[in-house]
Amino acid sequence: MQAFIDKTGCISCGLCVSICPVVFAMDDDGKAVAIVNEVPQGSIDEAKEAKDACPASVVILEY
Ligand code: SF4
Repeated sequence: MQAFIDKTGCISCGLCVSICPVVFAMDDDGKAVAIVNEVPQGSIDEAKEAKDACPASVVILEY
């Protein structure tokens, strides 16, 4: 599974980073970014949780 952020809609709340720091981090511009190409097996549930929690619905997971 791959994770992406549509940064144009990110409101910099930091939730995705708090929930799944293996996959998401805050970039220099204050927006979240996916820091791995492939979500590690052990972080898939967290990545899904981050997607569900994002208030701007800009976390994208592709299978
Ligand atoms: S949860 Fe959504 S809005 Fe908040 S930092 Fe992550 S991508 Fe941005």
